[in-house]
Amino acid sequence: MLPHDDNRKAMPNSWTGVTNSGNSLSDALAFDIRLTYNPVVSTVFYMRISQRGIYLMRAVMRLRPPVSALLLLPLLLGCKKEAAPPPAPATPPPPPQVSEIDLKSFKPNEAGAVMIVMYHHFDPNRPDTDLNRRPETFRKDLETLYQAGYRPVTVSEFVENRMDVPAGKTPLVLTFDDSAPSQFRVTTGADGSPSIDPDCAVGIMETFSKSKPDWPMKATFFVLPRRGNNGDPFGQSDSASDKLNYLVSKGYEVANHSSTHSSMRRMSADKIRWEISTAIRDIRALAPQAQMQAIALPYGILPRKEAEPALISGEEGGTSYENRAVLLAAWRPVLSPVTKNVKRPTPTGQIAAFNPHRLERITPDARRPNTAGTLEFWLKFFQENPNLRYISDGNPKVVAVPKSMGELVDAGAVKAQGKTLQVYSLTGSGSGGRGGELSVTPSGGKSGALRVKPQTP
Ligand SMILES: [Zn+2]
Repeated sequence: MLPHDDNRKAMPNSWTGVTNSGNSLSDALAFDIRLTYNPVVSTVFYMRISQRGIYLMRAVMRLRPPVSALLLLPLLLGCKKEAAPPPAPATPPPPPQVSEIDLKSFKPNEAGAVMIVMYHHFDPNRPDTDLNRRPETFRKDLETLYQAGYRPVTVSEFVENRMDVPAGKTPLVLTFDDSAPSQFRVTTGADGSPSIDPDCAVGIMETFSKSKPDWPMKATFFVLPRRGNNGDPFGQSDSASDKLNYLVSKGYEVANHSSTHSSMRRMSADKIRWEISTAIRDIRALAPQAQMQAIALPYGILPRKEAEPALISGEEGGTSYENRAVLLAAWRPVLSPVTKNVKRPTPTGQIAAFNPHRLERITPDARRPNTAGTLEFWLKFFQENPNLRYISDGNPKVVAVPKSMGELVDAGAVKAQGKTLQVYSLTGSGSGGRGGELSVTPSGGKSGALRVKPQTP
């Protein structure tokens, strides 16, 4: 008689041995021998011993019970799946979007224009010009911009569309060229401790930000190393490194303004590479974390066409670089980084197309409030043409654009930035407000006939 499975079940898992399962001592004895040689399979040999010898009756290989259960599991599940009714098709999560109530109350326009403002000196003893802004006037600028709903971002945040601006507010880029001493000055108190001069640009911005917590300390400093500035950045040699490191640590951006501040008009590509790389090395020697990913052209002058690629990326002396933004000096606001780079994005040409390698800037100049190109002019312009102004929807995942601006949007750029485009129309929605559908064409009569001339800083 052959043994029962019960015997085998009683055996330890990796046990090797012999069981006498015979129940008769006639001429034959039956054994089953379990050999365990791996954890997956056990083999049972059925033997018969008689007077004529030992016979192998048969050998059976069996999967060990836990293993067989595991191997069978997918099969069982698979069968079950086939048998079960087909599951309901998974519904993709709805794309993020701005609520109608927010559209109505904020009228976001993330295809609109952004001002990049260029500052140089902050000398209280010189009049306000295109290159100088008295500290008092700069304080007023910040207050005016704040009250008009602007909030600062850096150049890199603008070109990469990483602008963290609350719903209903307009991003604004403040830039400071030449690392002039009046931009960042440190004074020593009676007790010998250094502090930031409250009348330098950084001191004014710090004070302002403290009084307005929703005005972050954001700006881009296009600095010059010692060899281009007749001195260290911001003038005070012993604190140059501390100042640059301070700016980076506070969230300001430190960027390139070349090494020697020479016009690039006739420069070779090699020389341009040297100018950019040397500036990076010199500034990073003082502040290793300085970003140096954008460049403001000295005097706003572009090099010749064939040398222009050297502005964007290159390598020299073991330093490789990539400038995500190239800034000129003049003179118009720039459309949002989700818009197409077309020659004439708005019918009357007041607003520059978005081209990160040709970013225009505007200059504060109290003497010419009615001249296109000045901060004074554009502040008034956007009051009269709110439809052209970038207004944040407050949702970093969504690019909300009124239908009238929809054609300007580069859908590929929106997608590449990992955002969702939401083109909306308020026409006929009964929302009231300032007249439903927004329009690209400026409403102001005079502004339609603008004639703008570049300014050279
Ligand atoms: Zn400069």
